[in-house]
Amino acid sequence: MNFSLPATMSYTHEQDDRYHAYIFRHDTLGELGRILLHGLPNGQRQISSEVAGDPADPMTAVRMKTFKPVSDAITQALTSPLGVDDTAVMAITPTMAPPLDMVASRIIPCGHCGETAAILIFAEQTTDTAELEDCALNMLPQYGEAQVDTWVIGEMTTPGDDTPVSVLKVWPEREPVAMMSPRDFNQTLDIVLASHCS
Ligand SMILES: [Zn+2]
Repeated sequence: MNFSLPATMSYTHEQDDRYHAYIFRHDTLGELGRILLHGLPNGQRQISSEVAGDPADPMTAVRMKTFKPVSDAITQALTSPLGVDDTAVMAITPTMAPPLDMVASRIIPCGHCGETAAILIFAEQTTDTAELEDCALNMLPQYGEAQVDTWVIGEMTTPGDDTPVSVLKVWPEREPVAMMSPRDFNQTLDIVLASHCS
């Protein structure tokens, strides 16, 4: 295939009886989406392309912007030698990632009213930005429904240790990954909790 992937991207290949799936990842965005090749009963091959994420998640548009040129180029490279009659090309359609039950999260209730005031998502054993994004993607159904301040937190150090950890704020506004000490993070969280009922 006459195509080279950008250095910031990688892919894995999975296959079963019915299809080949190429799953694309980005260095900092995490999972971008996948390209599926499957045979149709009439002997045609179908290529479909899906960007990871929910349409309501602003990060889906960011993933789309990164993934679409690659998806278009690969689709082009696969279809041109075969001739257009052999394939049916489909548009990119957003898809929900499956729930990741390895992701631990903690719901912090408001001390006054008892309602959910914040959510912490723990990306265990990693400080890698792409893996923080993977956790954010997989936990979106939870914090998207709760609509409270939510952070994805990289591997925690022992309590009292002031070593910074990677923190990705994902709701209500997304912020770039920041390095925060547990003390600084707890101060930020305290401010959010204190303002819940005020
Ligand atoms: Zn409250």
